[in-house]
Amino acid sequence: MAEKQQDLMEKIVSLCKRRGFVFQSSEIYGGFNGFWDYGPYGSRMKRAIENLWWHEMVEIRDNIEGLDSTVICHPKVWKASGHIDQFSDLMTDCKDCKARWRVDQMADPTTCSACGSKNLTEPREFNLMMKTFVGPVFDEEHAAYLRAETCQPIFVDFDLIRIAARQKLPFGIAQIGKAFRNEINPRNFTFRSREFTQMEMEFFCDGEQGMEFFEYWKEQRINYYKNKLKFKDDFFRIYVHEKLAHYAKAAIDIEVKFPFGWGELEGVHHRGTWDLSRHTEFSGQDLQYMDHDNGRKFMPTVIETSVGLDRTFLAILANAYDEDTVSTQKEGMDEDVRVVLHLPAAIAPIQVAVLPLSKKLNDNARTLYKELNEHFRCEFDVTGSIGKRYRRQDEIGTPYCVTFGFESAADNAVTIRNRDTMEQERVSIDNLRSYLEKKLAE
Ligand code: ATP
Repeated sequence: MAEKQQDLMEKIVSLCKRRGFVFQSSEIYGGFNGFWDYGPYGSRMKRAIENLWWHEMVEIRDNIEGLDSTVICHPKVWKASGHIDQFSDLMTDCKDCKARWRVDQMADPTTCSACGSKNLTEPREFNLMMKTFVGPVFDEEHAAYLRAETCQPIFVDFDLIRIAARQKLPFGIAQIGKAFRNEINPRNFTFRSREFTQMEMEFFCDGEQGMEFFEYWKEQRINYYKNKLKFKDDFFRIYVHEKLAHYAKAAIDIEVKFPFGWGELEGVHHRGTWDLSRHTEFSGQDLQYMDHDNGRKFMPTVIETSVGLDRTFLAILANAYDEDTVSTQKEGMDEDVRVVLHLPAAIAPIQVAVLPLSKKLNDNARTLYKELNEHFRCEFDVTGSIGKRYRRQDEIGTPYCVTFGFESAADNAVTIRNRDTMEQERVSIDNLRSYLEKKLAE
């Protein structure tokens, strides 16, 4: 089983590189550990996931506002949040094979997981914040940090946003953006990177309603994974935190069955009044909320939903990757392996491929492609046999292929092939757009 899963990871990594989803940053220089680039299909898919989250969390709700803050902010922000003093992991080095480990990730903290040696350095604290300098002088006074999470600027801007957007409690603020952590041991492909994207939402409410909203957001996020990303019940699970941070009231992680085992995808946390209290203390600005309906003034309680975009991307691939055997006309073979990504249509990098059956049909088919491309993410592919082209599209998860044949010009119809069932259907070009709209929304 473990071997099969390892195999799956290798297949996903290789497919990602070969088809331009994700590959190592700076590859011609030997790569850069913990940094990944998203290629043509990967960047399309990543953006589609981001748009889906933004739509579900911000656009369809009138009590969630958006924010796009800077990556570098005042260093005091990270002092107040506790990151400068406490955002660290314990690290140890093997004196024999020189491997470096995060102590909490070792099977046995007294033994090197690579060579089995017990000759390890004393564990020491290692701060994960990425440091830089602002201005021409490179000294401690000018040190600044790349944000380690996207939520701190939300807390810092809470009052400005509340007033500008004329929001009353309860309401939330969401942000998507890059976060940076100097992870000791980046691994498992994009799962643990040093630069990654987070999608976070902080919901501010009266403490009396805190648990009610915690339950609400937990359910909302579970439904999102089930209904929008089509995760099956056995692909994800809820981990309830028993040990909580001193300020927290409740916390769960949504975990996913990654090829290397169960791993955290998203956290839903009841953070009490900790964040706004700390920024009130460190900035001297009172971030309490005045409820004019009942004359009460209080520090808002925060419910947080926090998910990594790169981990979502990897989880979707792990959930979607499949191989089946199909009959083939290849010499000496009856069956061939078909690699297929069963991606939800909403986030597939290509939603519709237009495939002319002969070069002579290219012009007409291209006109159709241009029309469809106004409404869906489309690709026009003319090279290779039709079977090869179907396989190419299956491998990148294209839900529908539109085949333009010689009869298409005469009967004004095309053949639509479904990725998952491989069934083909004849559809009139006049109805094509509404047909695809309906199918892609399923
Ligand atoms: P972990 O325990 O795996 O280090 P965490 O509990 O520190 O994660 P949070 O600080 O809660 O993570 O961050 C929220 C989300 O951001 C995580 O659930 C994950 O999806 C994502 N994330 C965190 N660290 C990384 C990373 N190094 N690479 C990619 N995504 C990350």
